Amino acid sequence: TDTQAKQRITVLGSTGSIGTNTLDVLGRHPDRFEVHALTASSQVEAMLAQCARFKPRVAVMAQEAAGRQLAERVRAEGLVTEVRWGAAALDEVSFAPEVDAVMAAIVGAAGLSPCLAAARAGKRLLLANKEALVVGGEVFLAAVRQGGATLLPIDSEHSAIFQSLPDDPSTWGQRIDKIILTASGGPFRAREPQSLRDVTPEQACAHPNWVMGRKISVDSATMMNKALEVIEARYLFGVTPDQLEVVIHPQSIIHSMVQYKDNSVVAQLGTPDMRVPIAYGLSWPERMASGASPLDFKSLSAMTFEAMDAHGHTERFPGLQLAWQTLRARSGSCAILNAANEIAVEAFLNRQIRFDQIHAVNQATLSALTLAEPGCLDDLMDIDRQGRETARGFVGRWAS
Ligand code: NAD
Ligand code: MG
Repeated sequence: TDTQAKQRITVLGSTGSIGTNTLDVLGRHPDRFEVHALTASSQVEAMLAQCARFKPRVAVMAQEAAGRQLAERVRAEGLVTEVRWGAAALDEVSFAPEVDAVMAAIVGAAGLSPCLAAARAGKRLLLANKEALVVGGEVFLAAVRQGGATLLPIDSEHSAIFQSLPDDPSTWGQRIDKIILTASGGPFRAREPQSLRDVTPEQACAHPNWVMGRKISVDSATMMNKALEVIEARYLFGVTPDQLEVVIHPQSIIHSMVQYKDNSVVAQLGTPDMRVPIAYGLSWPERMASGASPLDFKSLSAMTFEAMDAHGHTERFPGLQLAWQTLRARSGSCAILNAANEIAVEAFLNRQIRFDQIHAVNQATLSALTLAEPGCLDDLMDIDRQGRETARGFVGRWAS
């Protein structure tokens, strides 16, 4: 493919779990990709090592102090990378004309603004940052349409659904009966619901099948991750809330499935390794090596499934229902839920509230707020801010 121009990529959140997996995949294909920009929040040493290895044109730190530190270290090492910092710089490396594709791997609503910048500029937008779509909703989709961007899912479930659907999105509506998202059930799938009061951040972050950032690890333990994914699927695939279903599949081999009108089910399978959906997003509609091991059917003992309304899962994972509740409520509710959950998870990780109080904060915040329908990024950021403020109030009241 040396006749083809290399794709220029910006990796937002390059020091995180998805970011480092993305760089692993990019490093396997130096003939196809070059890195335009890498970004992180505050991890100076990790970013310095990535700059030395991938020689990006630009490195951005979200935090100013970290940016100044990195600039000094980059100069001392004699690297060519230009260092910037702050929110405007994150947007800039996402819409820069020389960029072909943006991997959105920042965690939380903090990633929304650069996602919208990439969408409006018509980039290939590889979306790991599910919170951005949950908060952005229709505003996000409108930016993708107006900018002529290509939105490709990186979340393993959504990549699986995308791979199980026909190429032409205009046929999806008339063919899909429902979308079935699989969930591992996380570290507490078989725990007594009452005993979840006492679990620690360390226990919540020890996922059986995936190594991930701390926020998504806690979300997997509460199954709020699956709630966010149900909302994400609603927007990515244009189905109604009734067409979305969740089933527990502890082995994480089937990554999700589509049931068609004739009850034929198409699924995508593979070892649990995020480099598969990352490589697919980068190479789509082609395929390329990901570094993941092949699935070994001879050593696969069993694939099992559990309904969400059995085995005590309703009591164990009360947050999952909030996906349908907020999707059926006025637009903006999903943004409130996301804001509350970000605050609640942070408070749990800081040992201010108990594990079961994450759901209490989310529910109380949703009940406390009714806000006007959002029409633009400023409206969304305002809803996000009010959601956080209200959630912090409940955390303050309940903190032990
Ligand atoms: P992580 O915590 O490991 O990494 C987050 C990255 O974002 C880091 O580079 C960090 O420096 C940067 N960052 C954090 N806060 C920031 C801020 N306020 N401003 C700018 N940059 C900031 O997280 P992760 O596990 O890689 O997850 C990233 C996103 O991908 C999340 O939305 C998550 O839900 C989604 N996702 C992750 C996985 C996974 O396997 N880890 C799977 C599916 C989806
Ligand atoms: Mg997922």
